[in-house]
Amino acid sequence: MKGRTDKGLLENMRLDKFLSNMGVVSRRELKSCVKKGEVTVNGDLAKASDMQVDENKDVVVFRGETIEYNKYIYIMLNKPSGYLSATEDARDKTVLELLDERHRKMELFPVGRLDKDTEGLLILTNDGELCHKLLSPKHHVEKKYYVKSQSELDDSAVKAFEEGVHIDGGYKTLPAFLEITDNACESFITLHEGKFHQIKQMFRAIGNVVVYLERVRFGTVSLDRTLERGEWRYLSWQEVSELRSVQDK
Ligand code: URA
Repeated sequence: MKGRTDKGLLENMRLDKFLSNMGVVSRRELKSCVKKGEVTVNGDLAKASDMQVDENKDVVVFRGETIEYNKYIYIMLNKPSGYLSATEDARDKTVLELLDERHRKMELFPVGRLDKDTEGLLILTNDGELCHKLLSPKHHVEKKYYVKSQSELDDSAVKAFEEGVHIDGGYKTLPAFLEITDNACESFITLHEGKFHQIKQMFRAIGNVVVYLERVRFGTVSLDRTLERGEWRYLSWQEVSELRSVQDK
C-alpha cells in the first residue's frame, strides 16, 4: 500500500466479504483459493470462505500478501487529458483505468467531474457520504484552477468574475476570484460551485477561450506536484480529516 486510508469500525465480518471489499478476490473465487490453501488468518490456513474475521485485529494473508482492511479509501489522482471522470464508458478511457486492478473492484467514484481535456487534481473514493458533502451546493467547497486562455486578461475580467457572469442559458455564476499571472494569458481562478464546463463557459461569457485547464486545489487539498500525470497516491489522514471538516456556509 502506498499510504494510509480510513479504518472501518465494524468488528466482525466474513472472510469473503473482507477480501472482496478490498478488491482482492471475488467471493466465488475465494472458495477455491481457500481449498488451495492460499489464505491464512493469524498464521493458520483459512478453514472456510465464510469464516468470521475481526478486520481490526486479525492478520489476513492472501497469496503471501497481508491485506489490511480499510472501509473507505481516498485517492488523489493527477488526471491527464484524454480520460473521462467516469467509472465506465463504452468508447473512452476512464480515470479508473489509471488505478490498480484491485481498485477497479472497489466501487470507487470520482468526487465531481473534470472534463476529458482537463488535467490535475481529482479525488476518488468509495465514501459516498463525504463525496455528497463535498459536492453539495450548500458547502460551497472551493476549487482552484490554472487556466491558459487564448487572449490576454485584464482587470475587467477580474471584475466580471467577481460580480458573476451569465452562463448556461442565463444562470449567473457566484463570485469567483481571478488572479492574472505575469503572463496575461495565464491565470488562476477559484470557484465555489461546479456547473457543467463552468470555467470554459465563464471565459466564453467574457469573449475569451480556455485553451488549457488544470485543477490545482479541491477544498483544502492541493495537487501533489510529486505525482506525474496519470499517477496517484492515497490521501493522508490529515488531508481526509480536513476535507471532512467542511462546514455548512
Ligand atoms: N470547468 C470547466 O470548464 N471544465 C472543468 O473540467 C472544470 C471546470
